[in-house]
Amino acid sequence: MAKRIDLRSDTVTTPTDEMRQAMANAEVGDDVYGEDPTVNHLEALAAEMLGKESALFVTSGTQGNQVAIATLAGRGEEVIAEAESHIFFYEAAAVAAIAGAQIRQVKGARGVLQPADVQAAIRKLDVHQPRTAAISLENTHNRAGGTVTPLAVLQEIAQVAHAHQVAVHMDGARLFNAAVASGHSVKEICAHVDTVQFCLSKGLAAPVGSLLAGSNAFIAQARQWRKRLGGGLRQVGVLAAPGILALTKMVDRLADDHANARLLAEHLVEMRGVAVDMETVETNIIIADIADSGVDVEAFLADLGQAGVLATAFGPTQVRFVTHKDVSREDILAAVDIIAQVMQSAQPIEEAGLSGG
Ligand SMILES: *Cc1c(COP(=O)(O)O)cnc(C)c1O
Repeated sequence: MAKRIDLRSDTVTTPTDEMRQAMANAEVGDDVYGEDPTVNHLEALAAEMLGKESALFVTSGTQGNQVAIATLAGRGEEVIAEAESHIFFYEAAAVAAIAGAQIRQVKGARGVLQPADVQAAIRKLDVHQPRTAAISLENTHNRAGGTVTPLAVLQEIAQVAHAHQVAVHMDGARLFNAAVASGHSVKEICAHVDTVQFCLSKGLAAPVGSLLAGSNAFIAQARQWRKRLGGGLRQVGVLAAPGILALTKMVDRLADDHANARLLAEHLVEMRGVAVDMETVETNIIIADIADSGVDVEAFLADLGQAGVLATAFGPTQVRFVTHKDVSREDILAAVDIIAQVMQSAQPIEEAGLSGG
């Protein structure tokens, strides 16, 4: 059978052989006692790279974001987040369920929050209004197609927020993609935010985990929230060990994923009935809109899957493709041929008799 080309997400990446070796050989201790040397090493390395005082190993990106929000925002307070942010869209209303805060959705430009809109959304001190506790940025922005927030925008948002004593959190699940694509270091990017979460388990290919970083005082409180949420783990150095390799060995190669995404997008826009906003193809995510083809997304994805290419439905007429280390340039070129064939043989909804008049 031909190889399955899995473009659903960069979360499907498998650990490298070196990561598996490191897991087997990891020195461990009880991390709730602060005695796991491998976890301590990973947290110190991450803090150093991001230019923050401290970092905390958490089970997932969702846990990192929610521990951060719960630490920054309390019951009856408000968090400003981009309208289609992961925190709002994909975290099971955890901001309401855990922190007891509400999200104020603010629409960004291709996923990038605009400083003037943030300024306008910050609440006045008034008995009728919740206190604005935090602003959450998403960089890169998933639903917008992996877009990067420019440094100048980050800086302006930080100025606006800090002038109102509002904290800035960054959901940097794909922070390293933003760094590699922009040519700015993660330290330069994170200089403008108070707290940041990034995933080891996506393009960086570790099997599990994220890091949350910020000041010593913030991380001390976050550690208690992590415990409260059941994230205080024991000999977890076995999972921190591949995380160290994710940070030391897997960052630079993200440029290949970006080049592959660009290549795929350039072929997709040439296909009849397929539209891609090329401005958004900055990193490893492509959102293709197949509305003009008249083909049903679910049917298209089912046929594509049969032919060996996996992608994700991302709206009524949208499909998301994500490139990563387990998909080579050759795989991308093979996927292009398969997508073109499936698109050509797919029936528009009316012809298939599904339009319902
Ligand atoms: C993947 C992702 C997360 C967190 O995901 P987990 O699956 O919980 O690790 C958070 N934010 C964004 C933007 C993401 O893409």
